[in-house]
Amino acid sequence: MSRRDLRAPLSRREFLHLAMTTAAVAGAGAACDLGGLVLADWPFTLGVASGDPLADRVVLWTRLAPDPLAPDGAGGMPDQTVPVFWEVAHDEAFRQVVRSGAAIAHPSLAHSVHVDVNGLAPDRWYFYRFQAAGHVSPVGRARTFPRADAAPALARFATASCQHYASGYYTAHAAIAQEDLDFVAFLGDYIYESGANGPVRSHMSGRIESLAGYRHRYGLYKSDANLQAAHLLCPWIVTWDDHEVANNYAGDSFDVNATPPLLPFLELRAAAYQAWYEHQPVRLLPPKGSNLRIYRSLDYGDLARLMVLDSRQYRSDQECNDVLGPECPGFPDPDKTMLGAAQEAWLFDGLAASAARWNVLAQQVVFAPTPIGDLRNFDQWDGYPAARQRIHDFLQGAAIRNPVVLTGDIHAAGAGWLPTDMVQLTGPALATELVATGISSTFPAALAQLAKDIIEALPHVDFFDPFGRGYVRHEVSRDEWRADFRVVSTVTEPTATVATATSFVIEDGNPAPQPA
Ligand code: FE
Ligand code: CA
Repeated sequence: MSRRDLRAPLSRREFLHLAMTTAAVAGAGAACDLGGLVLADWPFTLGVASGDPLADRVVLWTRLAPDPLAPDGAGGMPDQTVPVFWEVAHDEAFRQVVRSGAAIAHPSLAHSVHVDVNGLAPDRWYFYRFQAAGHVSPVGRARTFPRADAAPALARFATASCQHYASGYYTAHAAIAQEDLDFVAFLGDYIYESGANGPVRSHMSGRIESLAGYRHRYGLYKSDANLQAAHLLCPWIVTWDDHEVANNYAGDSFDVNATPPLLPFLELRAAAYQAWYEHQPVRLLPPKGSNLRIYRSLDYGDLARLMVLDSRQYRSDQECNDVLGPECPGFPDPDKTMLGAAQEAWLFDGLAASAARWNVLAQQVVFAPTPIGDLRNFDQWDGYPAARQRIHDFLQGAAIRNPVVLTGDIHAAGAGWLPTDMVQLTGPALATELVATGISSTFPAALAQLAKDIIEALPHVDFFDPFGRGYVRHEVSRDEWRADFRVVSTVTEPTATVATATSFVIEDGNPAPQPA
């Protein structure tokens, strides 16, 4: 078959084929014959997912991969296009199908499909499934957002990040799958690119150097049943951090302290971004080249505006050789950017135009100052103080209502607030920051107690826990935002219990967390 661009119109033959198979399936119910390829092995080994919900639509995702760990990254699929039928229903038994259609899984996109299902009703649950090559997928749940002009009473969601496969089992995802959530916001490090193995599982390959390698790595991670269960629960809103590409990369710069990649870095980045797209339920066209705009905003009625940021693709290289250490001569360079000029302008425009009760920055690295003695982490916003101060000044000057910064990255849970004076760390609170610990990634054990003692002693930090793995459960109403720091009992055993370690409440109009 030809390597046709997915955005190109269908040929007459392809159109007729899809139209006929769609009609046949619509009449036939669950038993469907899409014609063409029939696979002996079940192709839905990576599960299904939904994402980027709007009031009238949601993205449905799957990838056909009967052999997800095939070393060539092709998932065991033949080099041909495959029609994939999809259905959305009011009920789990698919008696009331409301939308259905067919998409084409293309080998150039690892047989992934992204269906942006429109025409849905706002603020309600749907069920969805796929059928392809003689097989039926698991059934996932998706939920549309309330209309932008609606005044919803409540939003429930989780923030999660950092799921190093070898470091731990995804017991936290098993716990997420039991929660009552409208969506999950994933804040980066969905995969880790290194070859490092951990106490419980193997990465099964070395550091990733190619598109095939990234596809194989996503195949490994997405084979996990607990991760799949968390995707089945509700839509996800996904952004990335560094490990979806390479540790501590910055814009077009590979980590200066690491062995250079085999590919020129921007070619590696292009491969990584393509594989990320192929495996996430995002409303994007297939990437071309090494750039991919993923920053976007979503409105949960007038309750919350989510500004989903990308603090990796456009940032300047880290200062002071990007090692945890004291400030070096020349620091800080006021020209260093974290978001890039275009994203920063977009952020300010989006916040200035917001009528939302809560204005959320869903992003990657710790925003508040967290000096450890005279040591700095130059990969965090602490390494970009001029860029951070511009956001700070904007939030203050424009009197943005209830700003809340949601963060991942550091494999530690945290709650605190942004002081008016970000240098002296004094003055009233301007915003709250809530940091989710890793799903499975761990904090360096030798540093954990020291970091806890020093960071928790900072005046604007209420809570810092590097010991637990888990996620943050958010319950957002019109008068208050409640954050429950959920911690699992273990990630070194396949099953665990989950408990709330601590809870904070942010009151409307008082941008600092209070103990709940
Ligand atoms: Fe991480
Ligand atoms: Ca660097």
